[in-house]
Amino acid sequence: MNFVKISRTQRFAGAIENFFSKNRRHLGLVHLGMFGVFIVLIFVPPFLPAPLEHSRVFDNFQLFANSLLWGAWFPLVLLSVVVTGRSWCGLFCPMGAASEWASGRGLGRRVPGWLKSPAAPIVSFVFVTIWAQTLGARDHAQSAAILFGCVMLAAFVCGLVFGRKKRVWCRHACPIGLLLGVYARLGAVDFKPKRFVAGGDRWTEATACPTMIDLKRKSESRHCIECFRCVSPNAKGGLEVQLRRPGAELETIRHHNGNLAEVLFLFISAGVALGGFLWLVLGSYQDFRLWLATEAIKRGWLWVGSPGPSWLMAVFSEEREVFRWVDFLTITGYMAGWIMICTLVLSFTTGVAAWLVRRAGGTGTFHQCFVALGYQVAPVSLVSLVLGLGNGAFINLALLGLSPAFITTVKLLLFVSGAGWSLHLGNRILASFGVRGSSRVGPLLCGAAGSVFLASAWYPALFG
Ligand code: SF4
Ligand code: SF4
Repeated sequence: MNFVKISRTQRFAGAIENFFSKNRRHLGLVHLGMFGVFIVLIFVPPFLPAPLEHSRVFDNFQLFANSLLWGAWFPLVLLSVVVTGRSWCGLFCPMGAASEWASGRGLGRRVPGWLKSPAAPIVSFVFVTIWAQTLGARDHAQSAAILFGCVMLAAFVCGLVFGRKKRVWCRHACPIGLLLGVYARLGAVDFKPKRFVAGGDRWTEATACPTMIDLKRKSESRHCIECFRCVSPNAKGGLEVQLRRPGAELETIRHHNGNLAEVLFLFISAGVALGGFLWLVLGSYQDFRLWLATEAIKRGWLWVGSPGPSWLMAVFSEEREVFRWVDFLTITGYMAGWIMICTLVLSFTTGVAAWLVRRAGGTGTFHQCFVALGYQVAPVSLVSLVLGLGNGAFINLALLGLSPAFITTVKLLLFVSGAGWSLHLGNRILASFGVRGSSRVGPLLCGAAGSVFLASAWYPALFG
């Protein structure tokens, strides 16, 4: 008799499969519950009195909701992808579920080319993140309600118009869908076809998968929202859950449909996170604002001094925070500047690394080397996002009474771990291109230069 040894990891993956395939039918209730929680957290606070100066998180619902949204939900969802992939999307997210629900009852139109473009989720992410900053969504309940309300409405309308029982929004337009997708490639959970068909991943509407993955050809995890619909433990076909070492997919990204748009997104998202944090703390932002205001006045553009509409920027006269057009233009321009700087610097370091790989006799074209090596930024870029856009988590740690020195140490450890992981990832990617021994030093130094650049840009956040 043949005994097949099953490892503990496989047994654990099997238990996950069994649990979720048995309980999949209850996911609708989970989504409904989460929908209720989000409605309460987003739409109740604007109708409550604003917190007083001495109010604390646990005695004011506005502060409590804000702390849950920006200090717990956002950073935890970001960090969770490294462990469980896009489990948030498939198991909990009320927005994706609402979009799919609408898609089952809507017009069922074909997904247009512009929406399928790789640029769509990048534009959506950049637009919504900058809008969140100009609205002051992290500080004002009304602004958060406008932002989340509009995004929810857009998800619902997208579902109503496009696709039939699909999540077109989640695959192509959600502002954090691509973000979670790229970092899910680092994650420890993967759904693999039991009968894999080679030839590359494909987009198809003729599939049971809500994010339009051609299941038999699936080799990448970025679009998988872990809905467990394709998993049936006793069937010979379909997909099975596999647990892997975090980062394993990116180490061999050549075989997992790596692409330039995603790499550019990694660079851009690091810039967005930096810009979104640094405009609040750097003097150069104030200098830029002053310069812009002076130039505008010189030219007689006095409208820059008047407040804009409250759906576009923070206009809270009672709280003495009124953004004027000059603030809107400065925040947008400053963040766009950081996006450009990050994209240029990281493209340069990656480009030189790719050139060195080719010189060292690495297998693959310059484009393939550039794309693969671009992914080494992923860990450090993820940490950037947690430090910048997930800064609320550190505010929560301070509210829990942890000392500033301890919080700085946590930030520093996070950054150093991200940079170390990026370096390790770079080394493994170089191995996949057949670059050996001392020939790896040059490309690795280029990768390290990218991390050093990000570290120096993050200096005010880490030590400020
Ligand atoms: S892609 Fe966006 S809307 Fe869709 S499930 Fe994920 S977070 Fe929710
Ligand atoms: S691959 Fe399977 S688990 Fe992943 S989104 Fe598609 S149907 Fe759901």
